[in-house]
Amino acid sequence: MTQDIRNDAFSSMRIKLFLIIIGTLLAIWLVLLAMVYSLMANELFGLLDNQLLTYATHTIHSHMNSKTTNSSTVDRTTTTDTKYNYSLWQRVPGNTVQYSVFIDGNPFVSPLSIYKVAKNNPDGVFKTIDNQGIPYRAFFAVIHFQRGDFIIRVTTSAARTDTTLSNLLWTLGIVGFIALGITILIGLWLSSRILSPSIRAWKRQQQFVADASHELRTPLAIIKTNLEVLLRHPEHTIESELHWLGNAYSEVLSTTTLIEDLLTLARADSMEILIEHEEIDLSALVNEVADTVHPLAEDQGKELKLETTEFPCKTVGDIKRLRQLLLILLDNALKYTNAGATIVVTLGCDTNFSQLAVKDTGIGIPPDQLPKIFDRFMRGDSSRHRENQGSGLGLSIAKWIVEAHGGSIVVNSMVGKGSTFTVKLPS
Ligand code: ADP
Repeated sequence: MTQDIRNDAFSSMRIKLFLIIIGTLLAIWLVLLAMVYSLMANELFGLLDNQLLTYATHTIHSHMNSKTTNSSTVDRTTTTDTKYNYSLWQRVPGNTVQYSVFIDGNPFVSPLSIYKVAKNNPDGVFKTIDNQGIPYRAFFAVIHFQRGDFIIRVTTSAARTDTTLSNLLWTLGIVGFIALGITILIGLWLSSRILSPSIRAWKRQQQFVADASHELRTPLAIIKTNLEVLLRHPEHTIESELHWLGNAYSEVLSTTTLIEDLLTLARADSMEILIEHEEIDLSALVNEVADTVHPLAEDQGKELKLETTEFPCKTVGDIKRLRQLLLILLDNALKYTNAGATIVVTLGCDTNFSQLAVKDTGIGIPPDQLPKIFDRFMRGDSSRHRENQGSGLGLSIAKWIVEAHGGSIVVNSMVGKGSTFTVKLPS
C-alpha cells in the first residue's frame, strides 16, 4: 500500500517534471525556429523592397526629366521590364473633381486608394498583396517634387520569395519534428536522472525510519514488561522490586542514547547540524579523551596506549564532534576486546593532513561484514547480545563526522587478531 502511494507520488512527479522539461525545451526550439524564419523573411522581403524602391525612383525621375508628362517620353528601358508593374499619377492640388492625372503604367488602379494608404507615411508603404492566389509585393507612395506631388504604386511578383519561404517553413517543420523527438528523449532521460537521487534518498529515509521504529520497539517492550511485573504487586516495596526497576532504568538509559544517535543522523541528513570551523589542537584533544577513557580501560583489565608526535597536530573543525568521533572509536575498541587486550591510539601529521588510528587486539570483524561496517544499524553478532548495548549507529555517526570535516575513515581487521580504524583529516 505504502509502496503504491510512493510509486504513484514519484510517477506523477516524474510526469510533471517531464512536461516542464519538454515545455521549456519546446518553447526554446519554437522561439529559435521562429527567429530563423522571420530573419530569413525580413532578408528576402528587404531585397525585394530595395528593388521596388530603386525602380519607383527611377520611374519617377524618368517622368520628371521628360519635357511633357506623356508616357511616350518615359525611359522604356525600365518600364518594359516585365518583372515590374507600375501606375503613376500627378496630383491636382485643390481639385476635388479630378483628384489626380494619370501619367503612365497601369490605368486601372485607383489613385485614391494609394493616396489613402500612403499619405501618412512620407517614406511610402510596402505591402504584400494577393492577386488571384499569386503573391505580389507592392510599394505605394506620395512623392513631393517641385513640379507637384506624384502618386505611385509599383508591384512585382513575390512568388519566388513566397516559394523560398514556404520551402524554408517545410524544412523548419521537419527540423522541428526531429527536435521534438530529441526533446522527448532528453525529457525522459532528464526527468528520471533528476529524480533518481531523490528516490534513493527517500528509500534510505524510509529504511531508516523502519529500522529506527524496530530498534525502539524492543527496549520499550522490555520497559513495559518490567513495569507490568511491578504493577501486579502494588503492596511490594521499591527495595523488593529493585531488580525490575533496574532493568527498566537501564533500558531507558540505552533508549535515550539510541534516540540521541537517531536524532544526530536525522539532523545530519537534513543538513541541520552546522559544523564549526575553528582551529583545533588534535594532540591535546586525543590526550584529553584518552584520559577520560583510561579508568574504564583499567577497570576492564585492558591497556590503553597513546602514541603521538612531539609537535602538536592541528586541524580545522568542530571540537565537540571530533571528541564524539574519538569516543565512538574508543568505546568500540573497549566493547569488542576481551580483558588483557591492548588498545593503541596513534596520531601523526604533516602539512596536508593528520592521521589518527585506533588499533585494538580484539575479536576483529569478519570479512563479509567489513564493506557494510559503516552502514546504519549494522551490527556484528557480538553486538547483538544485549549486554553490549550496541545500536549499530556509532560508526555511521563517525563516518558522517569525518566526511563533514572533509576527511576519510577506513578499517582494517582480522577475526581473532583485532581491528584498526584509521581517520585522515585535513591539517
Ligand atoms: P554498535 O553500537 O553495534 O557498536 P557501531 O556502528 O559502532 O555499532 O559498530 C557496528 C558494528 O561494527 C558493531 O556491531 C561491531 O560488530 C563492529 N565493530 C565496530 N568496532 C569494532 C571493533 N573495534 N572491533 C570489532 N568489531 C567492531
